[in-house]
Amino acid sequence: MTRLLDAYRPVAGEDVINHLLQLSGPLKGVNVVHVNSTRQGGGVAEILHKLVPLMKDLGINAYWEIIHGEEDFYRCTKGFHNALQGHSVSIGAGLLDIYETTNRENAQRLGQLLSEADFVFIHDPQPAALIDFVPERKGKWIWRCHIDCSRPHRPVWKYLRNYCSRYDASIFSLPEFAQKLEHPQFIIAPSIDPLSDKNIELPTEEVEAVFQEFGLDPDLPLLVQVSRFDRFKDPLGVIEAFRQVRRHVPCQLVLAGGGASDDPEGQAVLEEVMVAASGEDDIHILVLPPDAHRKINALQRAADIVIQKSIREGFGLTVSEGMWKGKPVIGGDTGGIRIQVIDHYTGFRVRTPEGAALRIRYLLHHREKRQEMGERARRLVRENFLLTRHLREYMALMLSLTNGSEDRIDISTS
Ligand code: UDP
Repeated sequence: MTRLLDAYRPVAGEDVINHLLQLSGPLKGVNVVHVNSTRQGGGVAEILHKLVPLMKDLGINAYWEIIHGEEDFYRCTKGFHNALQGHSVSIGAGLLDIYETTNRENAQRLGQLLSEADFVFIHDPQPAALIDFVPERKGKWIWRCHIDCSRPHRPVWKYLRNYCSRYDASIFSLPEFAQKLEHPQFIIAPSIDPLSDKNIELPTEEVEAVFQEFGLDPDLPLLVQVSRFDRFKDPLGVIEAFRQVRRHVPCQLVLAGGGASDDPEGQAVLEEVMVAASGEDDIHILVLPPDAHRKINALQRAADIVIQKSIREGFGLTVSEGMWKGKPVIGGDTGGIRIQVIDHYTGFRVRTPEGAALRIRYLLHHREKRQEMGERARRLVRENFLLTRHLREYMALMLSLTNGSEDRIDISTS
């Protein structure tokens, strides 16, 4: 009997776990490699940390590899990221050269594992060019895009498309992110792990301890946004909204974040945030180490309202994290936040600091609404955004690619 998965029975439900066991039958012993660009920081790493062990638990030989590069490589790939999310970014030939060379070098290092794998999941643009440098490919290669590329900056997408189009399939988080590619495209939303340190239930004392640890006032309502310091997360917009709320209601704001090793812009954004927040005792900018999962969990649980006011967002795991903790979320009206924050039901979607301020004030005045929305939010996550659903969809995808064009997937174990 599988042990890791058993722990999910009470949280996700018996049916869900039995379904996973059934689906995994024909996949036992297959080799699956995931490649992304960082083990810590950002949503992709957060997901792979548990998805890979769960795949192993189901008898799949799952591996997780990281692509390594120098500073200019990450400058280039951050440019890709910004461009795919709609910024008009021009990336010079020199940086593109570094991108290709780095992918070639990583392909040499990982060559055998990648060429012999039955399935290779390449996450986001950083390792997308690996496919070019692994000519002998036994298995199916899938490009998994976690970014909101509904309106990519065309020249950059045209460049990346040369690589992405060579994959056997691609996965996007939302239908509107899908691109014109001549291979099967799958829509799979990301997920959170309810049993990770980030999301597990915590003792009350541990939650309450954050007030003292971070100098917060236990008697003031608490607003929390957890994010990398990235302009797409709009930390300055959150500060602006907070200032507007504070004119009417006493409260405090935590902006908690850290860097991701593949994000070279974090420091500059953090400095802008520090300047914007200076002189405000009730704004707490917390720069946390990459393994501060329980602290983030406790902060989200201590919050009265969770905020994720992004202006572009592939999904926004922090939204589901807050919802799982029974919090109403005020989220930017964009990308993956739209499938989590159901307006007026699990929270509010906003476009401007003024809109955010209005909704924050409303929720601070209506405790029963916060509770109602928070309960619905938790249910929505349980039904849609837990890791077990994500795993099921990855397995179904692998089976469907194995199955060719047959429209029936046979999961009977032999
Ligand atoms: N996160 C973290 N520490 C930080 C900032 C973020 O552990 O300082 C986590 C956050 O809790 C979430 C993930 O990193 O699990 C971020 O995923 P999301 O999809 O929200 O955004 P991304 O960074 O991938 O754009």
